[in-house]
Amino acid sequence: MTPIYPGSVDAAGRRATLGVLGGGQLGRMFLHAAQRLGYFTAVLDPDAQSPAGLVSHHHIRTGYDDPAGLAQLAQLCQAITTEFENVPAQVLQTLAQTRPVAPGAAVVGIAQNRIEEKVHFAACADVSGVSCGPYAVIETPAQLQAVQADRPDLLPGILKTARLGYDGKGQVRVKNAAELAAAWAELGSVACVLEKMLPLTAECSVLVARGWDGQVVSFAPQRNVHVDGILAVTHAYEGNLPPPLATRARDAAVSIAQHLSYVGVLCVEFFVVDDGSAHGGLVVNEMAPRPHNSGHYTLDACDASQFDLQVHAMAGLPLPQPRQHSPAIMLNLLGEVWFDAGGQRREPDWQAVLSLPGTRLHLYGKLDARAGRKMGHLTITGPDVASVKTVAHRAAALLSLPGLDAV
Ligand code: ADP
Ligand code: MG
Repeated sequence: MTPIYPGSVDAAGRRATLGVLGGGQLGRMFLHAAQRLGYFTAVLDPDAQSPAGLVSHHHIRTGYDDPAGLAQLAQLCQAITTEFENVPAQVLQTLAQTRPVAPGAAVVGIAQNRIEEKVHFAACADVSGVSCGPYAVIETPAQLQAVQADRPDLLPGILKTARLGYDGKGQVRVKNAAELAAAWAELGSVACVLEKMLPLTAECSVLVARGWDGQVVSFAPQRNVHVDGILAVTHAYEGNLPPPLATRARDAAVSIAQHLSYVGVLCVEFFVVDDGSAHGGLVVNEMAPRPHNSGHYTLDACDASQFDLQVHAMAGLPLPQPRQHSPAIMLNLLGEVWFDAGGQRREPDWQAVLSLPGTRLHLYGKLDARAGRKMGHLTITGPDVASVKTVAHRAAALLSLPGLDAV
């Protein structure tokens, strides 16, 4: 991979341009990082008002599988990434015929399918030292019956669609065999996995960036709190997890990325379960083939963000090990923040929130606030963990945000 240097102009007079499939907030923050370095940018997303489309030099407004749109993207860009996890793998394959595409179609295809993802996790469990929890695949009525008859150990459990799930969508919690059958029908009898409901004591995730040359860097694990299946709070500071557990999670994520020969930023999510051991056991949950909501704190608390690393990795630039310079807490801002207790639309009290020390507000340019919709996030950094927690609690109280445990 020949590096694509920012600010360069090729023989045909084209400025160095990076492209992204998908125009959501992840694409937007990726473009901001690319533009800060001096790249021109292009985004492909059908929505004229998409968060990334609003801030890109070029916005191709077609569907993800539109041949003309993809040809235009390839023509404009020297390298292409995706922020949209469910982009058809075939699309990445087509683009890769003429341009470097990171991450590649094969790994995105694995991450798009919980069944393949678990097979991959199992394949590298010897090296990563971490397995996924007990589960069974349900793709046919016969498999459903077999699970009902032979796997009572998986109940109570969570039935998850193999594809297209996110933010707790495409999942049903089931207590018994009858509920399982009803849930599978409710999900359209599509390919699913039934996972045993695990006694979680915490959740964490690890961001890894790997270059074309195999060089790998990573961030320390962040501890995540989900409310109703959606990320609410990320704790990113020393002591957020027992150190031996944090080391294991980080090493496992790196070996998972290596095993995939991944290029770009990968996020691996883990469960911490109560297994009677001193620090709890570690179980790998899923991976996202892109920067991740739980890594947004890196924008404000680290000398290189997850989006900077995505730019560096795809463009073949060096990948310096990022350094976190401040403890941080990230609070997700969902659509609920724009409504009062009576359901009336309101402007959040930014005056009060932004007067708190160390608060950094990121809004994604979405006009339509809806319950559960990710509108932005607030990062709190400070000189020490105690002051970050204090400010985070004040901000959460002002905005009625859930998920922050007691100081
Ligand atoms: P998504 O793609 O929606 O992020 P996840 O598989 O990560 O799907 O599930 C969302 C959340 O649901 C998790 O972060 C966790 O809080 C909870 N959850 C998922 N699977 C299990 C499980 N097997 N046991 C206990 N809790 C789970
Ligand atoms: Mg998840």
